[in-house]
Amino acid sequence: MPPKPKRRSNADAQSLLGLSASLAREDLLQMEKLAAMGRLVAGLSHEVRGPLGTILGSTQSLQRNPALPAAAKESLARIEEAGKRIKSLVENLLGFSRVSLTTIVRVDLCSLVESALELTDFETRSRGIEIVKSLDRKAPMLNGNFNTLKQVFINLIGNAVQAMEGQGGGTIKLSVSPSPDGFGAVAEVADTGPGMPREISDKIFEPFFTTKGKKGTGLGLWVVSRIVSAHKGRITVESAPGRGTTFRISLPAA
Ligand code: ADP
Ligand code: MG
Repeated sequence: MPPKPKRRSNADAQSLLGLSASLAREDLLQMEKLAAMGRLVAGLSHEVRGPLGTILGSTQSLQRNPALPAAAKESLARIEEAGKRIKSLVENLLGFSRVSLTTIVRVDLCSLVESALELTDFETRSRGIEIVKSLDRKAPMLNGNFNTLKQVFINLIGNAVQAMEGQGGGTIKLSVSPSPDGFGAVAEVADTGPGMPREISDKIFEPFFTTKGKKGTGLGLWVVSRIVSAHKGRITVESAPGRGTTFRISLPAA
């Protein structure tokens, strides 16, 4: 996707603001902060990508040299690993800044979930997390922005992975089915993590609410809920300590 990264990121930050047009006046300051952060994140990610590509490319071509001493090979492998970690962080941040509603097309929720899973595959596999899919192709098509809706699932899977971090693995179940009431399609993301008490689950959709200290932004689920409501859908959570967490998203049929 070539030209004008800067203009794009401005437009994206604005459409993120647009998503929140229905919010109360006192949230304005936080939305401005978010829009500014979106611009900063998009700009910074683009700047970091170039030099990072050089670092990874050079490391990989150096590693192909058969005359390399073992110690140097080890150092190069560590550089490559660190570079890949930065790359994945940058990709995540870019994904966050790509929230946009400018292109609305027919979206199939099953393909959307599959596409999100491709992006989270490394993350789940490297942590020994089992993915269980139950995708009912009879779920109706939706109207929406594919990449923006994909962010919903990437975020929910990411949170599930983080929730199960301390327990050495677990299961994430993704299901898609037609709504029983004929409204449209329902998707569920369920994990076997620690779950949350009511005091926490009541606040998780608020902007900047996080229990992860400096490692969290508290923006993930807020952005998720804005994306879902911008698509005229609903999101609910079911969770209890020791019983895992299930997010349920209902979206109207096209
Ligand atoms: P962040 O991930 O940056 O903390 P989010 O908005 O994505 O922000 O999530 C807010 C909070 O909701 C998290 O800090 C965590 O306490 C809680 N949470 C979200 N998803 C889960 C989950 N699958 N299991 C347990 N807690 C969760
Ligand atoms: Mg999160």
